[in-house]
Amino acid sequence: MASNPALPSPAEFAENLARVEDRIQAACARAGRARESVLLLAVTKVFPAEAVLAAHALGLRDFGENYVQEMEQKAAKIRHLDARFHLIGHLQSNKSRRAAELFDVIQTVDSAKLARRLADSGRPLEVMIEVKLSEEESKHGAAPGDVPALVETIRALPGLHLTGLMTMPPWSDDPEFARPYFVRLRRLAETHALPGISMGMSHDLEAAIEEGATIVRVGTALFGRRRP
Ligand SMILES: *Cc1c(COP(=O)(O)O)cnc(C)c1O
Repeated sequence: MASNPALPSPAEFAENLARVEDRIQAACARAGRARESVLLLAVTKVFPAEAVLAAHALGLRDFGENYVQEMEQKAAKIRHLDARFHLIGHLQSNKSRRAAELFDVIQTVDSAKLARRLADSGRPLEVMIEVKLSEEESKHGAAPGDVPALVETIRALPGLHLTGLMTMPPWSDDPEFARPYFVRLRRLAETHALPGISMGMSHDLEAAIEEGATIVRVGTALFGRRRP
């Protein structure tokens, strides 16, 4: 870990985790939810494999990566772990086979074509549909109007187990900004009887939990700022 000064020391890291855990527990208490109803997904993109090992040593078991290629580079050091790896970045269908080998959960399925490619890989996979709830050009995800058909397509594909929806609202440093998006995602999930709701990051995990998140994806609050 010494090779990457951007990583927190083990003591700092334990403190960071305790702080995040307190925030999750407080939000669960406010919302009248059980702590076990929210999964803390540690987002390790940009950080070296050692960040995953350090987090695993502190008890975390679910990790999020954004890029297939980055996961490929870390895989040798982390694949043996008793852990689940989630792809939370956009997936091009030409990388779907490799993604299916490297990840246990693909949170960013946003087209029927991609879903079919993942099913073709033959590996049993847990998948979520990424929904685009804003008009931002740069964001990936299925339009809300396309979700019903996509849900049907995925449910009919062998090997894919559809567990929920995921979203990434436009960036804002105001932790309340994303709340209306969170409400919309939860309602959409309810419409399709999907139990999983992946939403909320370091700065807005409280609002996400209050609005029903079952997975919060946390990077910065655990590992510190990512270097550009
Ligand atoms: C980077 C990333 C996160 C984590 O964001 P932080 O603000 O560092 O907690 C969560 N979700 C997705 C899709 C990301 O790309």
